[in-house]
Amino acid sequence: MSNKIPTQDVTPDPVKQYPSDETVTQEMYANRKHIYVREIKGLFQRVRRASNWILMLGFFVLPWIPWGDRPAIWFNFPGREFHIFSATFYPQEFMLLSWLLIICAFGLFFITVFAGRVWCGYTCPQSVWTFLFIWLEHRIEGPRNRRIKLDKRKLDADKLSRKTLKHSLWLLIAVATGITFVGYFTPIRSLILDLPVLQASGWSYFWVGFFTLFTYLNAGWLREQVCIYMCPYARFQSVMFDRDTLIVSYDTQRGEPRGRRKKNLPHAELQAAGLGDCIDCDLCVQVCPTGIDIRDGLQYECITCAACIDACDSVMDKMGYPRGLIRYTTENALEGKPTHIFRPRLIGYLVALLITIGLFFWAVADRSAVGFDVERDRNQLYRANASGEIINTYTVVVRNLDQSDHTYQLSASGLPGITLDTSEVNVPAGASRQMVIEAKAPAESITQPSHGIILHIEATNGDIYLERDSRFLGGTR
Ligand code: SF4
Ligand code: SF4
Repeated sequence: MSNKIPTQDVTPDPVKQYPSDETVTQEMYANRKHIYVREIKGLFQRVRRASNWILMLGFFVLPWIPWGDRPAIWFNFPGREFHIFSATFYPQEFMLLSWLLIICAFGLFFITVFAGRVWCGYTCPQSVWTFLFIWLEHRIEGPRNRRIKLDKRKLDADKLSRKTLKHSLWLLIAVATGITFVGYFTPIRSLILDLPVLQASGWSYFWVGFFTLFTYLNAGWLREQVCIYMCPYARFQSVMFDRDTLIVSYDTQRGEPRGRRKKNLPHAELQAAGLGDCIDCDLCVQVCPTGIDIRDGLQYECITCAACIDACDSVMDKMGYPRGLIRYTTENALEGKPTHIFRPRLIGYLVALLITIGLFFWAVADRSAVGFDVERDRNQLYRANASGEIINTYTVVVRNLDQSDHTYQLSASGLPGITLDTSEVNVPAGASRQMVIEAKAPAESITQPSHGIILHIEATNGDIYLERDSRFLGGTR
């Protein structure tokens, strides 16, 4: 199958007839050009590095924090329990997870409408790990120009040692990332001891290996390709942009016509000579982790990392021009129109975000300290004992969602004389008990084939109580 598609160039062209009927052939997939990112210092890079280090520190440290005899954060899938510090959640509380996901979605919509792709540039794990890998690359192989020369050079001892060191350190970080990730699902203190002596579970080895490879390939090799071709957010975020969204943008009016000039040419003379402020130094392109030229306008590849702003500001400082040729701005501001911060769409997302956050905290505060599920045994309608009493069987699950052990009293109501064969159950904090219990009622109480009954559970200290409706079956007299 051909990997080329015929396209028609419809670009307005004063020389050619418009639209041109010339058909050109374009590659469906452009070959990847390796991007040698140049390191730059500046305000936004300091902010970005600080946020990267804080997030990475949080990721690596959280699974090590103990909480009693368990990790503070532990998504215990086999035990069907999710511990987050003092709170324990169960799969039955799936609704809370749904609220969390909705909060994340509205949060992302709100921040994108307000400030574009700041999530991508400052907090996305793909960017955070890629920046770490590039930072290491710079330390080992040197600045951009030296890295380009090194890659062009034939393999020698120096190149071999630098490449080996770089890939070894990348792999080390990738292994640490893989182990830490699995450490959120398996207690990391035992995992770290079990892995080298082959005592960990097969799934632990699989996921550690998977995330090691995933990190090494994504942050070391694929880098911007993940943002450009794999990330769905890059594709749909543009529909959330409006003319008041904060974007990184080049001020064409001020910068053009671009061109090289003497450094000490006074700004006024430069403007009289018809030159804009862009000296065409290419620095903004060299620092861009996705390899784009922001002077070509807003592009979906831009992750809003602001490296080009810092680069261009440093050039403006050297030239003695005002900063901000590339800056955070809005389309309206660029056209000299007022920017509206509070606009209906943004307010709508903010209101939706606040409502969902409120509902989430209300649901968390309102959750009972005990979980109580009752299911009637469907295999058996009912049976009668030697005294003629009617017996129904139920499967009961009691989950202690509290931080202390509890003894619960079980009882039933809704039928005269109804009793349970189990009246008390002990459940340690965070644990659950499943049991089969029998409810017994005198035959004379049964007046219809199916009676509604209520099963009650109450902690012996009295401030935890729950009840569940069920049915009691029996033949009429
Ligand atoms: S860094 Fe600034 S001056 Fe240099 S090319 Fe980019 S926009 Fe022009
Ligand atoms: S264009 Fe600027 S802000 Fe956008 S990704 Fe490149 S360096 Fe970052």
